[in-house]
Amino acid sequence: MPTELDRRAFLQSAAVATVAAATGARTALAQSDAPSAARPVVIASANGTNATAKAADMIASGADPLDAVVAGVGLVEADPNDHSVGLGGLPNEDGVVELDASVMHGPTHRAGAVAALRNIVHPAAVAQRVLERTDHVLLVGEGALRFARAHGFPETELLTDEARRIWLHWKETHSERDDWIAPPAGDKAQSWLQHVQTFTYGTINCCAVDAAGNVAGVTTTSGLSYKIPGRVGDSPIIGAGLYVDNAVGAAGATGRGEAVILNAGSFSVVEQMRGGLAPQDACLAVLKRISDRTKDPRLLDANGKPNYQVYFYAITRDGRYGSAAMWSNFGRRAEFSIYAAGRNRTEDAACLYEGRPA
Ligand code: ASP
Repeated sequence: MPTELDRRAFLQSAAVATVAAATGARTALAQSDAPSAARPVVIASANGTNATAKAADMIASGADPLDAVVAGVGLVEADPNDHSVGLGGLPNEDGVVELDASVMHGPTHRAGAVAALRNIVHPAAVAQRVLERTDHVLLVGEGALRFARAHGFPETELLTDEARRIWLHWKETHSERDDWIAPPAGDKAQSWLQHVQTFTYGTINCCAVDAAGNVAGVTTTSGLSYKIPGRVGDSPIIGAGLYVDNAVGAAGATGRGEAVILNAGSFSVVEQMRGGLAPQDACLAVLKRISDRTKDPRLLDANGKPNYQVYFYAITRDGRYGSAAMWSNFGRRAEFSIYAAGRNRTEDAACLYEGRPA
């Protein structure tokens, strides 16, 4: 006999099918709607393939899922070639790298976060320390740095030479109405122009569930590049860039943080899963809501659709997973990293809209 939950799940998937038909949303068939017999399952943004592998390994050896995901994203935070996170992240408009991160632990329903943190390579580990060693959830700026110092985190210049030159190129070319002069043709930074465009946003989110169904997640980032100093994105905001509920699962976000904050993005994805939607459908439903609520003409393309990218990544406590993006190809193909059924790989994300903004 169908339960109330079955009925709701049926009505909601019918609603998502309608969303898909109306918008042309593409679903990615490889994503798993079936409970995975083999947990752990670890999901991450596309830049997190090493993170999912490491976290899955640690969980399989008995680590708590929170320790595992923080260690996993630590690999990306320390990678100077990833310009979206930690060391080598692109700086704010003054050329200073400011990092945001959050963690959330399902079994204890606790969270920790830091925002606008300077000079620390591993903000996710500092966020975990906030969770474990304070009665607070979010520390920012100078206070977050002093807390990190108190816990012995080493201070480092996070602006690599390459990130500095990309920033300088932006500074010298983004306006005709200032005193900065564009570099001569052939300047080395020219070859990084692609980074200037591609890495305007960028973050790593990673969520995991262990064999017992315990869930944890982390989101860590250098945020929007060339941001106004002090700007805080969605990544350290619990409910926006990350949310975990051990009774349901976890979700995280990357992309335009302002849109994710305004729609309580990750919390909403978890709530959609609580209501019965599969992870991928939950991600699509919240993307549709974000799209519908985007009213400012500045943020709309020629067809009235959002002119920015947002991704969601979601897992359930029983090992189902899914991811969806606003656009299937916003400068790069929409993908995500996944460890499931004993295999680490990249899969296509579903998308609300095909292609890129007009
Ligand atoms: N969501 C991040 C922020 O807005 C950036 C990103 O994910 O690309 O700070």
